[in-house]
Amino acid sequence: MKHFLPLLAVALLFTACQMKTNTTSTPAVSSDYSRGAAQMAALWTEADGTAEEMAAFIEANECKTPKEKHALYLQLAHIIETITQYADMTYVELLRPTTLTGTEPGIADWMITSYSPLAHFSDDLFTNKIAFLTVLNFPHYSLEEKDSLGVNWTRDEWAYAELGDVFASRVPAAAMQKVVEANADAECYIADYNIMMKHLLTADGRRLWDEDLSLLSHWNLRDELKSDYDNQEKQEMIYQVMQRIIKQEIPAKVINSSEYDWCPYTNKVFAADGQSVKAEREKDVRYEKILAHFHAYQEEDRYRHDMPTAIQRNFEGSMQMTAKQIETLFTELVSSPELKAVGALIRERLGRDLRPYDIWYNGFKSRAAVSEDALTAITRKRYPTPAAFEADMPRMLRELGFQPAIADEICSHIAVEPARGSGHAWPAVGRQEKALLRTRIAPTGMDYKGYNIAVHEFGHNTEEVVSLYFNDHYMLAGIPATGFTEASAFLFQSRDMELLTGQKSDANSPESVLDQVWGMYEIMGVSLVDMRMWQWLYAHPEATAAELKEATLRIAAEVWDAYYEPILGEKGCCLLAIYSHMVNSPMYLPNYPIGTIVRYQLEAHFANLEPAEWAEEYMRVYRQGCLTPNAWMRGATGSEISIEPILKATREALQ
Ligand SMILES: [Zn+2]
Repeated sequence: MKHFLPLLAVALLFTACQMKTNTTSTPAVSSDYSRGAAQMAALWTEADGTAEEMAAFIEANECKTPKEKHALYLQLAHIIETITQYADMTYVELLRPTTLTGTEPGIADWMITSYSPLAHFSDDLFTNKIAFLTVLNFPHYSLEEKDSLGVNWTRDEWAYAELGDVFASRVPAAAMQKVVEANADAECYIADYNIMMKHLLTADGRRLWDEDLSLLSHWNLRDELKSDYDNQEKQEMIYQVMQRIIKQEIPAKVINSSEYDWCPYTNKVFAADGQSVKAEREKDVRYEKILAHFHAYQEEDRYRHDMPTAIQRNFEGSMQMTAKQIETLFTELVSSPELKAVGALIRERLGRDLRPYDIWYNGFKSRAAVSEDALTAITRKRYPTPAAFEADMPRMLRELGFQPAIADEICSHIAVEPARGSGHAWPAVGRQEKALLRTRIAPTGMDYKGYNIAVHEFGHNTEEVVSLYFNDHYMLAGIPATGFTEASAFLFQSRDMELLTGQKSDANSPESVLDQVWGMYEIMGVSLVDMRMWQWLYAHPEATAAELKEATLRIAAEVWDAYYEPILGEKGCCLLAIYSHMVNSPMYLPNYPIGTIVRYQLEAHFANLEPAEWAEEYMRVYRQGCLTPNAWMRGATGSEISIEPILKATREALQ
């Protein structure tokens, strides 16, 4: 079910709901009501009927036997699959001109992109009382309950609990609209924040970049820093720019503008004639955007009795792990002796003390046995069109160990299409729909980079098909959280060379393990800052943007001093607060390291399996569907989510 949730989430944003903010009109809930009846009553409003009508509805519609209940489950699952799948197919079809190559989109094609066929899904199903019927018989369970009670649940019971999540809350459109607006606004701010590198000056007035290079904060700045390992003066300069952005001391005049020169060290701004000019700082816009998100979430909080804070909705809801569970995993990894050893190795390689920005050290690279040009020559010839890639997919699955009949069946549910933008995988929502693999192919054929990404997406699509078409319950289709599909994508991607040349790839080479774990070190730190900032916000709901900035700087320094200063130096460093996702996608970052943790745990579990066993085990594991992460991982490997496999791989890589 996690499959259609992204689309549903968009839909809920526009639901016009009749719920009154005044909940005193809710009929009193009798104490001998069942769990489902009590939850249903909490969602029932005057507009839905009188107290007597509600009692009559419960009396008439509460299932009396397990057989009745199962029959109802099948009907409801069919209704939900039908509505959401055809809505998704409509959406995909309408978006074709703007997402695929081939035709030039017109005005109407662009205009229709904001249309959501599921906009009134929740509203309609509360109005016709299907939602009440669902909640009455399939109540919602909290994450904690799923994790504890779920140990003894049958597949049926898991599916019933999953159905109980669909209508667990009823949020008015206006409240959700505020979240959408705050998000769109932050998105624009982040997407249009560039630094003109040619106009940066050292303290003694020199330019370090002479070409016109406009870099988006923070991703492009970071990538430039990573490519400057032969020029530390440039790295120090970028580090300085980032700190000015985080502290909001950056002059507003120099953002997106080539009109002035700026020295990030002295923070002085100069006109084209070299004269120093007065320049106001950016104010606290960065923190205002975060605060706007918070205020929008507070509106939503009032209607979410199931999960009354954005922190809960993000962690217990979307990720199905508590913030505490995640914080424990992350702090264990970032304070591990293994990471200290990796840091020592980097220091040895660089021949100098580490600096904070070495969090982006990029020297761990597995050397390819074959040059990229040679690989591109193969991929261009083999994949001149998307159809050629599609035709080759069953062979790839067979080579990974899947039985021919299963390989064919999986691939029959995947279509490859030419993407206009970047490659991506679009999951099927129901069993009449195909999962889509979108890839970019130049007229000269697919280059190696495109092939590598296509194999990654193929890993997503295979998971999407296995967890939907091979699942015994529609409501359990999918995965626990996004990290679990990323794990599948990486399992495939790390075997791309094998699939292309037949030679074993070294994607799990020592260098690549060290590269992965060092990358996790960075994202986990940023995630911890993001999470603690949100905890602080909920503890200080009256905060101003200036106070939020101050708190964020303090939190970033605390996280740094505890887990980063011992390896990278510089007490009180604020660098971990630079990540743009903190501003435009609150609390999304922890998904990345969870994906890597899951991947290594699966790699360890799959290690030493022959291809046929590997594929069989892959099928078994991904057919489990959207249980909680811990239940899923217990079913997959026998133990809960753990960082031990990645640490073990690190120890082996270090030797
Ligand atoms: Zn991916």
